[in-house]
Order: sequence, then C-alpha cells, then structure tokens
Amino acid sequence: MEIKQVAVIGSGTMGNGIAHVFAANGYNVNLIDISASALEKAMATIEKNLQRQVKKEFISADDLKNALARIQTSSELKSAANAQLVVEAASENSSVKKDLFKQLDNLCSAETILATNTSSISITEIAAATSRPEKVIGMHFFNPVPMMKLVEVIRGLATDDVLFESIMELSRKLGKEPVAVNDFPGFVSNRVLMPMINEAIFCVMEGVAEPEAIDTVMKLGMAHPMGPLVLADFIGLDVCLHIMEVLHTQLGDDKYRPCPLLRKMVAAGHMGRKSGRGFYDYS
Ligand code: NAD
Repeated sequence: MEIKQVAVIGSGTMGNGIAHVFAANGYNVNLIDISASALEKAMATIEKNLQRQVKKEFISADDLKNALARIQTSSELKSAANAQLVVEAASENSSVKKDLFKQLDNLCSAETILATNTSSISITEIAAATSRPEKVIGMHFFNPVPMMKLVEVIRGLATDDVLFESIMELSRKLGKEPVAVNDFPGFVSNRVLMPMINEAIFCVMEGVAEPEAIDTVMKLGMAHPMGPLVLADFIGLDVCLHIMEVLHTQLGDDKYRPCPLLRKMVAAGHMGRKSGRGFYDYS
C-alpha cells in the first residue's frame, strides 16, 4: 500500500516537527490536536522552521509554500480516517494513548498503519488496545525532528515483518537514519541515556563535583556535544524522572532507581530550562 496521506495526532513539540518532515517530503498531512491553540502554535512553528531552512538554502521558497499547503489541521480525530499511516505524538500518558489507538482502530481502514512516537510506553501494550497489533509500530523521532537524523523503529511483539521493513524504508525517504529496536523499556536511547544522566545527578548529590565540572568532563573527555546536566535541564527534569521510574519499575532492577536529588528538584518545581531553573539558572 502506497502511503500518501498521513495523520499526525498531537501538535506539540514533537507533533509539529513530525508534520513538518512528512509535508516537506511530499506527504499530505492531517495534523490533529484536541487543543485549537496548540494547532495554531504548531503551524506558526512549522512556518518559522521552514523559513529557517529557506534562509539556509536547504529548501526553496516554493518548497516552503508547497509543504505548508500539504498540511491541514483539525481538532477531530475522525479526520485521521483517510490516512494510510497515523503517527501518534500525543501526551505521554498510557491511558490517553491506548484510548486513542482504540478509536483509531475503529476509524481507520484495516490497512492503515498505526505508529506511536512514545518515548517510554510499551508498543506491545499500545498495540493490544487495537484489533490489529501486527499493524502497530513505534516510530521514535528526536527533538528537534527536522534536524535530528535518528528514528528508532520499534517492533512490538506482534508487529508484522513486512510492515516493519516498510517503515524503515519510509524513514529513509524522510531523510532519516532508522535503527531497528525491539520493544523493551526505554528502547535503546533512553535505556542508555537516562541512567547516565541519573548517575551525573548522583555525582552532584554526593559532592563528587559541581554540575559545570561534570558537564565539562563529559564534553571534553568523552566528546559529548553537551554535558548530561545541561541535557537533563533541556529535556525537563520531570521527564527524566518519569523515564527513570519506567525503567526502574519495568526492568525491576535497582540500578535504575531515580536519584533522590532528581526527585527533590522535581518536587521543588525545578524542572530545568522550561521552569527557569534546574542544574543551571535560566532566569
Ligand atoms: P507536548 O506536550 O508538547 O504535546 C502533546 C500534544 O498532544 C498537546 O498539544 C496536546 O494538546 C495533545 N493531545 C493530548 N491528548 C490528545 C488527544 N487525545 N488527541 C489529540 N491530541 C492530544 O508533548 P511532546 O513533547 O510533543 O511529546 C509527544 C510524544 O512524543 C510523547 O509520547 C513523548 O514521550 C514523545 N517524545 C517526546 C520527545 C521530546 O523531546 N519532547 C522526544 C521523543 C518522543
């Protein structure tokens, strides 16, 4: 089945980037969100990011116009009914996602592929909310989506092999580098990244070194483009805590216990960049 029409559910940080990339690569996109203001903001962001690409001469002014013309917005889930592929990027909440997949399963044709951009919820569990678990797959994009090359393509327990290959191929058509991953908590990205961030926070808590020193070690010594604490502030400390809790609960190993200092900072409302304060001061 040729994919021409894509529905993107959720128009926040990730949804607008995903819609941007599909539209820029010739796909018609229905961008759907329950919030009208989120949709408005998403379209403004997509236009701004496309303009930036024109300025850098990555795309032409005509490409910008055509990409924008390919995106329709809607606050009704039923607008996803004509899509051959749905990419869900709604809030990271298991019951929200399962409910969405149940509705999409009823709305869309039996052939439609249902993908999720979840960072931490089991693909197999989301797939089980539908009557087509073989057509459910993870497409884990990275922020900012138009810039980041990686897509983790995650196979649920029942995901069909041919469908899996078609999503790997589609990701390449989007100019991305897809990586095959099986469905385990945190996939590869967060399974490796978050324990490193958590360990850096233990180093702060135990007074091993100051945050700036820890970040400098990882930047200059390990050639990381940014230190783990700057990165944690960027991701949001609440998001980091949530992912550590998922790893800890689902893998059942205390090596994934969230650092008490991480819990304390989240409890205090120090969420990182978005709250103005985390390991660094952004006020
Ligand atoms: P966000 O909060 O910026 O946006 C979520 C959007 O979903 C909101 O606009 C909200 O109104 C909408 N929404 C909520 N329930 C909905 C529903 N029932 N129907 C339609 N829209 C609904 O979140 P985000 O950061 O874009 O994350 C989206 C997904 O992508 C999550 O699953 C997250 O784990 C994953 N993800 C996030 C990042 C990141 O860096 N932010 C990276 C990779 C994956």
